[in-house]
Amino acid sequence: MKWCILTSARLLTGRIIKGVGGNYSVSTDLGLFVCQARGLFRKEGLTPLVGDFVEISVVDADKFIGYLQKILPRKIELVRPKAANVDQVVLMCAIVPQVNLEVLDGFLINCEKQSVDVVLCINKIDLDPQKTYLDVAEPYKTAGYDVYAVSAAEGLGLEDLRRAMHGKTSILAGPSGVGKSSVLNALYPQYDLAVGELSEKIGRGKHTTRHTVLLQVADNTFVLDSPGFTSFSIAHIPKDELQFGYPEFKPYLGECYYVDCNHVTEHDCAVKARVGLDIDPSRHQRYVNIYKRRGR
Ligand code: GDP
Ligand code: ZN
Repeated sequence: MKWCILTSARLLTGRIIKGVGGNYSVSTDLGLFVCQARGLFRKEGLTPLVGDFVEISVVDADKFIGYLQKILPRKIELVRPKAANVDQVVLMCAIVPQVNLEVLDGFLINCEKQSVDVVLCINKIDLDPQKTYLDVAEPYKTAGYDVYAVSAAEGLGLEDLRRAMHGKTSILAGPSGVGKSSVLNALYPQYDLAVGELSEKIGRGKHTTRHTVLLQVADNTFVLDSPGFTSFSIAHIPKDELQFGYPEFKPYLGECYYVDCNHVTEHDCAVKARVGLDIDPSRHQRYVNIYKRRGR
């Protein structure tokens, strides 16, 4: 029966969940196909990416071999890690032992630079009976970010985060040890199983991959598993562009006395005028630190 469907359908649509060495694993309603790409893509300078929605033609239905024919238009393309159609980054930190706020801000600058939506997730709140996470969260809420406080260990706050991820393709980012895998497993008990099954199908050791893979964790809900995605350098972002990494600065950019104001020591600065109002002083201070460390 399956054979009949496959041979009668000239093209199948699917989504690339892994791509290594020119072989793309494409998840379709009829199963997982391994596909090579048309040479034309290279000529056109198009590289298929994990997360791409694609059309494939079936080469061998029994062996699930296909041929990548077309890449459907991308909503968004991430550069680091390389992936397409990621709806949001879930940026995770752990309240214990502490949150490195400068690292966190660096992550956020990078996400803003790539124009990808980001939500914050503070994990391990079970270890924080004083609720200091509320103070950590506040400046980011002021900046306009959604913040979810959770405990993977005790199952706190997970419902809201699950809702925020539902129907979307998310990537979990953050330093190792903050609990990214624990949170995913708590949200989606089948997650580890999915990682394991996929490992078998596409031939990689569980959790030993160095490749980005896309996992379906619920209806229409995907998680991009990118093990290298633990730190984010902002070295490639020019010093003068760091300011664009702060959504709370945006309404005031262009209103400063100097057109090239960097909102550090300049007078008549519209951004600095808002510090302590709708711009959090500690966020601005860390911006100044990051900016000054760049030197000339
Ligand atoms: P990852 O490297 O970000 O994927 O972090 P892991 O999920 O591997 O977790 C790192 C460590 O933190 C493990 O020992 C987890 O058991 C622990 N951990 C994760 N989430 C929580 C939590 O909510 N509360 C506590 N107390 N420990 C947690
Ligand atoms: Zn300014």
